[in-house]
Amino acid sequence: ALYHIPDVSKPRYVRINTLKLDLKSALHELGKQNKVHMDDMVPDVLVLPPGTDLHNHPLVRNGSIFLQGKASSMVAVALGPKPGWEVLDACSAPGNKTAHLAALMRGEGKIIACELNKERVTRLADTIKLAGADNVKVLHGDFLNLNPEDPSYSKVRAILLDPSCSGSGTAADRLDHLLPSFNTEGLADVAGIHRLTKLAAFQKKALAHALSFPAVEKIVYSTCSIHQIENEDVIKSLLPLAKTLGFQLATPFPRWPRRGLPVIEGAEHLLRTDPVEDKEGFFIALFVRKSIKPSEEP
Ligand code: SAM
Repeated sequence: ALYHIPDVSKPRYVRINTLKLDLKSALHELGKQNKVHMDDMVPDVLVLPPGTDLHNHPLVRNGSIFLQGKASSMVAVALGPKPGWEVLDACSAPGNKTAHLAALMRGEGKIIACELNKERVTRLADTIKLAGADNVKVLHGDFLNLNPEDPSYSKVRAILLDPSCSGSGTAADRLDHLLPSFNTEGLADVAGIHRLTKLAAFQKKALAHALSFPAVEKIVYSTCSIHQIENEDVIKSLLPLAKTLGFQLATPFPRWPRRGLPVIEGAEHLLRTDPVEDKEGFFIALFVRKSIKPSEEP
């Protein structure tokens, strides 16, 4: 397929699974055969020369290194869960970000990983096992049907919401556009807009639902889409509810230059990555609210 063409112009990024391997050992091991250095902004991400193929590398096969890109690796870091927290990963398969959350929490605390699709639940379970993430409980079901008032979720302090999206920021999707289309352009556009509208409706529902969990202090919303309708527009429509519930937009990776499209108030808090310059087009928004029980804070 087209998307196996290696991108020879941009560096290759990988994430160290710190549950299994420390930074120093990772640099040492990968450095035997490749030029490798740490990313200057995202912790636990390593930078390798363009086109480096690590698919069969023993460290990848044993779950010490994940072939997870830099933009994708920014999401869990943006949420910043602490060891010991309870965290909900709302739409979690295949589990790259779930595994990353577990690593950031050093395996301490609890992660509830929710996934709707049965086949994808299997992949999620495989990823979690490979990562050695023992503190993850997999939940096969619809995130929208989880009852926020259920005592099982009363201690959830952070939610990672990475809902289904158009994928328009990923290389595979962009290359798809180069394929000949059997539709006339007009028809393709109508179908495309309909699909985006449906996705955006789900994304808004899911974000509203995440905002309704009583003890949640941080929510990260992310997509691998470049479309405003799935990104800034979703945030814009939920911002009034978020504010009513005491949430504000915070600024993930303040040194990162690419921020949200200036179509909403607070767009400078939002983060975008460029599908060409940064290899993948991601969008990240971070909501925070002050702990309801300030006495718990150190
Ligand atoms: N966070 C994942 C990772 O980093 O590996 C990728 C998540 S993917 C973008 C979105 C996932 O959400 C898909 O696996 C999809 O099946 C799942 N999903 C879609 N609707 C859902 C729902 N209502 N409840 C739970 N999961 C859902």
